Amino acid sequence: MSVPISQMWTVTSYVIKQHLKRRKRYPLVLMLEPLFRCNLACKGCGKIQYPADILKKQLSFEQCMQADEECGAPIVSIPGGEPLLHPQMPQIVEALIKRKKYIYLCTNALLLEKKMDQYTPSKYLSFSIHMDGPEKEHDISVCLNGTYKRAVQAIKKTVERGFRVTTNTTIFDGHDGEHFRGFLDDMMALGVESMMLSPGYSYDKAPDQEHFLKRNQSYKFFRELLYRPKKSWKFNHSPLFLEFIAGSRHFECTPWGNPTYNIFGWQLPCYLLQEGYVPTFKDLMEKTEWHKYGQASGNPKCVNCMVHCGHEPTAVDYTFGSLKGFFATIKGTILGPNIIPPDSEKMPHLPHKKDVPLPVPDMAGVK
Ligand code: SF4
Ligand code: SF4
Repeated sequence: MSVPISQMWTVTSYVIKQHLKRRKRYPLVLMLEPLFRCNLACKGCGKIQYPADILKKQLSFEQCMQADEECGAPIVSIPGGEPLLHPQMPQIVEALIKRKKYIYLCTNALLLEKKMDQYTPSKYLSFSIHMDGPEKEHDISVCLNGTYKRAVQAIKKTVERGFRVTTNTTIFDGHDGEHFRGFLDDMMALGVESMMLSPGYSYDKAPDQEHFLKRNQSYKFFRELLYRPKKSWKFNHSPLFLEFIAGSRHFECTPWGNPTYNIFGWQLPCYLLQEGYVPTFKDLMEKTEWHKYGQASGNPKCVNCMVHCGHEPTAVDYTFGSLKGFFATIKGTILGPNIIPPDSEKMPHLPHKKDVPLPVPDMAGVK
């Protein structure tokens, strides 16, 4: 089981309620970014490039509670920056647990062994460890040698202490999906509950702009990685999302599914783009021009984006929004996701507005 039954039930009943209320847009995961500072400086990071006065700032305990209250999503993901640097993080986590929120506390694990005793194991709390692939690839991605070994050590200790532990892996280009299959084996062997995968996003602010996957590169990588997935691999994803990143099906982005709150306010329109801020969650839902985003909009910032925070909520909504989606999810859960063989040239049909030229890259240059 990739998540506890109680979490699955909470999410299922929440989504069904949204459908019964006929809410067209609803949040699934609150992305609560309490600060931007970090103890690493990864080359693909789009969060740590702010000036020192911004990096010093952090959300207060009260702001975190207020954001959770306004949003009402059943899951709270706490990325950053490095959230373990926030002095009130144990109190914030404890209060969210009291509210019965399922929390993913995202960390690069460098401080985890030192700080873990500030937290209590709970079915509501999962440490989500940033692991960008096998040792060599991870250390290159985070720009610090030895980081993989330290994270592995921290994972072992955290699992031993009885915490839920998941991994969170961002994929950049130049990698061979076949080679990463051993990495998935290694993570499961450490005793993690499940793994998350996502193609990287080309943040404007990231120092490295050259190594983000184009859409067809994602298909290629994830077909190599996920074709005939091993039974031992557990993913913290809908099987339909895995089919999406491997190009077996297409989903449009639902950016409202993972609304983001940070020191500037509610971020428009998603976790990745920063097209403005509004003071309330209500404003975010009502004032954002949602039609301007997603692959079909032709927005160049969205054309190659396949990240989980934009598309996993679409997969979940599809599951509960139609019988077809429901049965596809059941099938994918029992038999594993339907992944097209890596040597296939089959591509999903990508919808687009008639007046916008189809901005899909071809396979030229795909390594
Ligand atoms: S660990 Fe995360 S927040 Fe820190 S620099 Fe790397 S990507 Fe950015
Ligand atoms: S496609 Fe990506 S960048 Fe565009 S709105 Fe969705 S999540 Fe944001």
